[in-house]
Amino acid sequence: MSDEPTSGGQILPITRWGTPVMHGPTRPVTDFGDELHTLVRDMYATMHAAQGVGLAATQVGVDLAVFVFECPDADDTLHRGAMCNPEVILPETRDRALDSAEEGCLSYPGAYQTLARPDRAVCTGQDLDGNPVTIEGTGLLARCLQHETDHLSGTVFGDRLSTRSRRLLSRQHDELAHLYPDDWPVTPRHTSAG
Ligand code: ZN
Repeated sequence: MSDEPTSGGQILPITRWGTPVMHGPTRPVTDFGDELHTLVRDMYATMHAAQGVGLAATQVGVDLAVFVFECPDADDTLHRGAMCNPEVILPETRDRALDSAEEGCLSYPGAYQTLARPDRAVCTGQDLDGNPVTIEGTGLLARCLQHETDHLSGTVFGDRLSTRSRRLLSRQHDELAHLYPDDWPVTPRHTSAG
């Protein structure tokens, strides 16, 4: 994946929860041409500007099944790539260990809640040329692969929280929402002082 277009993209505004594209199904990627490569380049630029570890196409308003990631695993090894048409395979119940950690979403900025998820996940799909790829994730990468694949079926992590946690998340977001301009990260986040 060394020739992937990870730089030179244009920063796009990040779509927020509540926008219909974030809560519905996506179309599978079938055309691996220039348009997809341009989209992915812009998604990398947007993820970097927002200092995220993953970004799904729906988060830039596009209903296509592709996400990008640049995320450390449990051994602190950084993994970077784009995944089209992803499917997550989780360990069988008897082999499953849950990791409870704080989770946030660039489309609901400023808010974090603890969410238990399996601590490893295998994600299969296709690269930007349509070749099959498999990534095995541990630590934060396992969480990222699950979070981004969820996005592409219209699920946000708030949907996986209890009513109480969801309420706390919403309160936290409301308190900090004024720091994020409508077109963030095109316009950077305001500092608390300003
Ligand atoms: Zn998200």
